[in-house]
Amino acid sequence: MGRFIGKAAIVTGASRGIGREIALLLAKEGARVAVNYSGSKDKAEEVVKLITDAGGEAFAIQADVSDAESVKNMIDQTLEHFGSIDILVNNAGITKDNLLMRMKEDEWDDVISTNLKGVFLCTKGVTRQMMRQRAGKIVNVASIVGVSGNPGQANYVAAKSGVIGFTKTVAQELASRNINVNAVAPGFITTDMTDALNEEVTKQMLSMIPLGKLGNPEDVAKTVLFLLSDDAAYITGQTIHVDGGMVM
Ligand code: NAD
Repeated sequence: MGRFIGKAAIVTGASRGIGREIALLLAKEGARVAVNYSGSKDKAEEVVKLITDAGGEAFAIQADVSDAESVKNMIDQTLEHFGSIDILVNNAGITKDNLLMRMKEDEWDDVISTNLKGVFLCTKGVTRQMMRQRAGKIVNVASIVGVSGNPGQANYVAAKSGVIGFTKTVAQELASRNINVNAVAPGFITTDMTDALNEEVTKQMLSMIPLGKLGNPEDVAKTVLFLLSDDAAYITGQTIHVDGGMVM
């Protein structure tokens, strides 16, 4: 089964966590994948090796999604490797948590730059090519806190709410060009990002999840793949919560 045979994809922040799982599942279903990373080249190369060892096609590409030049280079390199860009998954993200009164300006700026400006730059960057192809699929990784809010994360919540609004607007702008733009809003997913949280917070989170368990990267990746697939051809501008029912 290969829903993405021949498709060329960029997955940002794909060296670990949710992005890694999305890259691996896309490749498993036939996509050629540009595995974007910002820091750890070794981890990105590990993902590429897993894909190529299994007979797939991938390459690792360093780019800071908050930097326009860097994003342009990533897109140029992807086009050089694959000749098209059919899929973009805006997954890269960071947290720098603090209560509003303690939040420093650089904590605000860093999170907005990576989590919101990064989505703008990458989306704008691939749009020209997708318009030319008259086809494309974009999925943005938001967060349920972008819907519910979360004390201590004003910067992150503002960025993720922004991503949800951005998704709706760009979906409307690009619909006539046969480009679908959707988002997923993960809840509490076990990755490096959430490993940093203490036991008490984790326990408290669990008590708020109707399905009674934490999510894993595969739960999110499978939903992303659905939105990227032809099965979701008539869906655009939507944000699907992947959160065990945490926010309804
Ligand atoms: P993670 O920290 O394991 O992975 C984030 C990835 O983004 C890393 O590979 C990191 O190197 C990359 N990245 C960070 N800044 C970057 C930049 N400037 N340019 C390029 N890449 C950059 O976290 P994760 O849990 O896998 O998170 C993936 C996405 O899911 C993020 O957008 C995050 O906000 C979102 N999310 C995660 C959870 C969760 O519970 N884990 C919940 C809701 C939303």
